Amino acid sequence: MKDKMLELIKAEEKRQKEQIQLIPSENFASEDVMAAIGSGLTNKYAEGYPGRRYYQGNAIIDEIENLTIARGKELLGVEHLNVQPYSGSPANSAVQMALLERDDKICGLKLSAGGHLTHGHPKITFSGKFFESIQYDVEPDGRIDYDKLENLVKETKPKMIFAGTTAYPYVLDFKRFGEIADSVGAWLVADISHIVGLVVGGVHMSPVEYAHVITSTTHKSLRGPRGAFIGVTKKGLEKDLELAKKIDKAVFPGLQGGPHENAIAAMGIAFAEASTPEFKEYAVQVLKNAKALAETLKKNGFRVFGTENHLMVVDVGREMGKQVALDLEAANIIVNANTIPHEEGSPLRPSGIRIGTPAMTTRGMKEEDMVKIGELICQVIKGENKEKVANEVKEWLKNF
Ligand SMILES: *Cc1c(COP(=O)(O)O)cnc(C)c1O
Repeated sequence: MKDKMLELIKAEEKRQKEQIQLIPSENFASEDVMAAIGSGLTNKYAEGYPGRRYYQGNAIIDEIENLTIARGKELLGVEHLNVQPYSGSPANSAVQMALLERDDKICGLKLSAGGHLTHGHPKITFSGKFFESIQYDVEPDGRIDYDKLENLVKETKPKMIFAGTTAYPYVLDFKRFGEIADSVGAWLVADISHIVGLVVGGVHMSPVEYAHVITSTTHKSLRGPRGAFIGVTKKGLEKDLELAKKIDKAVFPGLQGGPHENAIAAMGIAFAEASTPEFKEYAVQVLKNAKALAETLKKNGFRVFGTENHLMVVDVGREMGKQVALDLEAANIIVNANTIPHEEGSPLRPSGIRIGTPAMTTRGMKEEDMVKIGELICQVIKGENKEKVANEVKEWLKNF
């Protein structure tokens, strides 16, 4: 008898192919990456680090993890790399556990302005409950005002500053972040989860000279497995010679048990793929596509925040974000509702949608395809028959 679960997996894979995927944090991993995730490596326990495992039988696993680390260090230009975090949130928690004491001050961009939960979102998160949270905002135009941030940091003297975003459509000035952190002796953690593919693809400023620690997921613009890494930079080691050791200890045994070596192998494959000229072309195309889509929406009269990277936030009318996202879903176009800068609606009923181009760029789309997607989005918002658009999308996607 066929397992119902296998049928559901097939159905989901079909859905992914038949709809336009515009969630900026999503992508399509390569067959090699998928094969590694689904390999026999999932069977093995490997608590510890290469050469220092608690169980026997890890000689090959050690080679695998070491190869992933070597490829990642080369690609990112960091001095030390921990590839064991299960995902982006545990990676950030590990950095906080390694470098902060309870009630220390942690500074991050507000969630509603495009920050992440793990950057000190108050009350309900680990980082917001155990540390004193200082949150900065964006300006009405959607940009970070670095002078304001500098004043806030000088006033409050946080011990750790996060530079990293989930819905920020502009380039992050890591140099300025570095100067601001240095002015009060704070740790600067660059969380490049969303933009890592753009950074290694050479189309976004790298934080490697300016941050002490770099965290990132590997399943977003990097196109790897669900997982994350923590990198320690030269600047980080200069601030604290023990930094790499502290990070490793916080990941294991501080926060995690056995590493997911199947994901670690897949991460190594993704690092190799990201080192190719084809990946650089992909990164360049992700930006071109985002620009083309943003321009199309602007031409049709929408207020668009961005874009200088892979994503944009579009104002679709007060508290209309969720309804528009639902209407687009009915038309086989997948986006998410999102707050806009200085949101005036309730956070549960945001006024924007967030759109990103990495996934459809991976499927081979170019600027003219983005113009078409932009026009389809406008048609749906202006009340065109959703079923008609849904069928058109499904047919069209067969070309990619
Ligand atoms: C996605 C993301 C995370 C969290 O990653 P998960 O794998 O979902 O836990 C953390 N920080 C930023 C900036 C992100 O975009």
